[in-house]
Amino acid sequence: MSGPGAAWVAEGIIGGLPSERQASLRTFRDSDGGALDIGVALWFAGPRSFTGEDVLELHGHGGPVVLRGVLERCVALGARLAEPGEFTRRAFVNDRIDLAQAEAIADLIDAASEQAARGALRSLSGEFSAAVDRVADALLDLRILVEATLDFPEEDGVDFLAESDALQRLGNVRSELAAVFRAARQGSALREGLVVVLTGAPNVGKSSLLNRLAGDEVAIVTEHPGTTRDTVRQTIVVEGLPIHLVDTAGLRDSDDPVEQLGMQRTRDALARADLVVSVRAADAVAGDATVSTVAARALEALPASVARLQVVNKIDLTGEAAAELDGEGGWTIRLSARTGEGIDRLRAALLWLGGQTETGEGVFLARTRHLAALQAAERHLASAAEGRLPADLLAEELRLAHEALGSIVGRVTPDALLGEIFGRFCIGK
Ligand code: GDP
Repeated sequence: MSGPGAAWVAEGIIGGLPSERQASLRTFRDSDGGALDIGVALWFAGPRSFTGEDVLELHGHGGPVVLRGVLERCVALGARLAEPGEFTRRAFVNDRIDLAQAEAIADLIDAASEQAARGALRSLSGEFSAAVDRVADALLDLRILVEATLDFPEEDGVDFLAESDALQRLGNVRSELAAVFRAARQGSALREGLVVVLTGAPNVGKSSLLNRLAGDEVAIVTEHPGTTRDTVRQTIVVEGLPIHLVDTAGLRDSDDPVEQLGMQRTRDALARADLVVSVRAADAVAGDATVSTVAARALEALPASVARLQVVNKIDLTGEAAAELDGEGGWTIRLSARTGEGIDRLRAALLWLGGQTETGEGVFLARTRHLAALQAAERHLASAAEGRLPADLLAEELRLAHEALGSIVGRVTPDALLGEIFGRFCIGK
């Protein structure tokens, strides 16, 4: 029980306040003085409690009948049942924790793997909030500078922005932000899984690759180009990491409405991707120009934050060895979906991107909301960095970026969003 009435309930049910922060054995009594249960009572006087309010905990023997009796007695004494997440919400409202920490509590409870639990604990202990705050603070310094330029435009003929190397500072803020984003995206994959989109021309072996990774037949493999008309989804769990695989309809020019529908789905899938794996065949004859332009256009539209990986499939046909190469155009893995050679390297790369580093170090169990806010901040910083913006517009972009960062820890969070976040908690947390 949390709130100003907790002392009154304690008086009624256990006959007085137990000593603060010490376990006391008490009989829980009904209104007629009869015993309901015998158990441990704990008293945390506000603000030194989880919620920041007076908190009474009663630990009984459980069992539905006894539990209901105790609950009914508490309600009769003026308590009411808590809404989902209400304790955590009060802790947030009373400034005991910030919003990212509150969310981490729910994530810790829901964690499906040890890695995810560790990431949630790191967010709960405030590491994620601190990293976001560091970026926000650097941004604040920059804002002060720009606002000063606005307030004193011609001060002694000094150009504040040029003098202070504002652009250089902006660059630093952006690279710090990018580092936080990387750690957060890895952590978000731990929670939500990784959305991996396979792209490439028809017949390069995307469906075969998906089947290989998934371990059973989910997509139709045929020798006729363009038969994979729909996106085929399957979630595989590799060492605790959910990987949502999206096989794509071959991206190419087509007048066939069914095929066009498939391609629209491919584009929708692309919009939600964490990782795009572009597949080509080792024995490919150079240049089916139509295919590559359509595919290239779709890929170009993706934000730079989406990770990319190239796969060269069918090395069994050319006799090349399985390998991973870090070259131009990013990371490339050579493998064969048919023989399975090199598939382990692809799996390892997926795990790494999904935050399954050996120690999980530096990974924050972030949510989609956090990633969106970090991306929004980066968008505003990018337009600020484009330069040649008049100082007042520059100031505005910086303010918006700052606001986006603030929404992560809950400095400027609309009530509706708070309701949404806390409503998803389980009851009693
Ligand atoms: P998609 O259109 O990109 O999905 O390609 P599919 O997975 O349907 O494969 C097209 C053809 O290539 C099929 O006949 C597959 O059996 C064949 N194929 C796929 N992967 C390999 C591979 O690693 N080696 C060889 N030799 N053939 C492959």
